[in-house]
Amino acid sequence: MAKVVVLGAGVSGHTASSFLRKWLGKSHSVTVVSPKPVYNWIPSNIWVGVGKISPEKVVFPLQPVYERKNIEFIQARAHTIHPEGDESSSTPFIVAGRTDGSNDSVRVPYDYLVNATGPKLDFGRTPGLGPGHNSVSVCEPGHAVEAAASLKESISKMRAGERQKFVVGTGHGLCTCEGAAWEYVVNLEFELRRSGVRDKAEILFLTNEYEVGDFGMGGMHLKRGGYVIHSKTFTESVFAERGIKWQTRSHVKAVEPGVVHFEDLSGAHGEVPFDFAMLLPPFKGAGFTVFDKSGAEITEKLIAPNGFMKVDANYEQKPFEKWLASDWPTTYQSTAYANVFAAGIAFAPPHGISRPMVSPNGTPIAPAPPRTGMPSASIGKTVARNIVGMIGGEPGPRYGASMSKMGAACVASAGASLWNGSAAAMTVFPIVPDFDTYPDYGRDLGYTFGEIGLSGHWIKQLLHHMFLYKAKLRPGWSLIPE
Ligand SMILES: Cc1cc2nc3c(=O)[nH]c(=O)nc-3n(C[C@H](O)[C@H](O)[C@H](O)COP(=O)(O)OP(=O)(O)OC[C@H]3O[C@@H](n4cnc5c(N)ncnc54)[C@H](O)[C@@H]3O)c2cc1C
Repeated sequence: MAKVVVLGAGVSGHTASSFLRKWLGKSHSVTVVSPKPVYNWIPSNIWVGVGKISPEKVVFPLQPVYERKNIEFIQARAHTIHPEGDESSSTPFIVAGRTDGSNDSVRVPYDYLVNATGPKLDFGRTPGLGPGHNSVSVCEPGHAVEAAASLKESISKMRAGERQKFVVGTGHGLCTCEGAAWEYVVNLEFELRRSGVRDKAEILFLTNEYEVGDFGMGGMHLKRGGYVIHSKTFTESVFAERGIKWQTRSHVKAVEPGVVHFEDLSGAHGEVPFDFAMLLPPFKGAGFTVFDKSGAEITEKLIAPNGFMKVDANYEQKPFEKWLASDWPTTYQSTAYANVFAAGIAFAPPHGISRPMVSPNGTPIAPAPPRTGMPSASIGKTVARNIVGMIGGEPGPRYGASMSKMGAACVASAGASLWNGSAAAMTVFPIVPDFDTYPDYGRDLGYTFGEIGLSGHWIKQLLHHMFLYKAKLRPGWSLIPE
């Protein structure tokens, strides 16, 4: 009997544990360790953050779903990994602190470990950033509720005749997830129009991207109606149509009440005043401490300095021009311990996808690589498949899910209304550009596409319901693609 432990119940971990349970025989056990009692369909937090839907619509309790499927659930936050066991036993284990109110520590032994702990929201890296400080966020349902309340207050002030300044974007020079900030700013603009106060609002998209539309993927070329455009043109045109101004190449260095302080790539420092600011935090990894059998710390063996887990990637430091698609991991297996995997955002990327940039003051200002929902889920499923194979006697992982061989589709909401809403549907292949295979653009333009319109919103609505249905492991869930 094998015991598989999955850390994290987000897009990647939940997919991994669901497929592990589906594919493994009853004699093997699947345990999920995760600090929150609920699953959150994060993409729809955007709609919570503009007050369009309630937070209950984007979460559901995990325990009943796991109970139904015979998956053990431990509500706890993992802190340490002991891949060689300890002096009392050679069985590997993790130690987690319960988050169900008891504060107890729990030791969870494993034969296979999947680290799918996603990002740690690192608001602290920018003084004054984030909930409880001077800006709002939509990364968690609770944050999004606060953002909606703050937006409502601004709308009331505008209805009373006041003008309001909105700043939306990235709260640090090394943020990722620019796509989420993009979705939020266009949804916010849509809600202001719907509320009849658009004329009282100034909206600025403040980003660390070199050009808007970079999205941490170095931008992309899109084939449209017989010609090719860059995502910069696509994004600028969406902003221009909606009267949203943009400021690129900016590192937010501090947020004070009503003022964002930034440095840009030229090294200049400046300020942006605001009445409402939704700025995403930079991400770091869960940051586990790792110990060997004797109790000596060996964190560096498994975890990169940014807290993400090292896997089968090429982590050699090299200049941008030497970056290769093949540097990206294939199986997400740890090279230090064959029974440890990292899926979704939790794996350490070998390097960025966007070109790294540094201001004359030495401040890095460039998006970190994104790992959106579709690749995170696909990686989780592939990791599950490989573990099932290894439990069945395979000598190692057989299946790959490299982001340099995988496409992604993203439907980005641009206004939530069944009749006059819209969304941008984008597909890209591969996610990590491969200039050896596609020398012109690094990507296959036959599969890289972008379009915006009302039907995009209907698809986004459908995806919301479909992915929540799938995550609830309702009948036929495994037939719904990742
Ligand atoms: C506002 C927003 C909007 C987005 N919109 C889109 C979109 O439209 N389309 C898209 O494709 N992607 C979107 N994304 C990105 C998408 O949410 C991520 O790609 C996806 O959630 C990553 O999956 P993951 O499993 O790696 O991490 P997560 O989904 O974040 O899951 C991580 C899990 O690990 C748990 N965890 C954390 N620390 C520990 C610990 N120490 N021990 C145990 N468990 C732990 C967490 O509680 C959570 O359950 C959006 C992201 C944001 C923030």
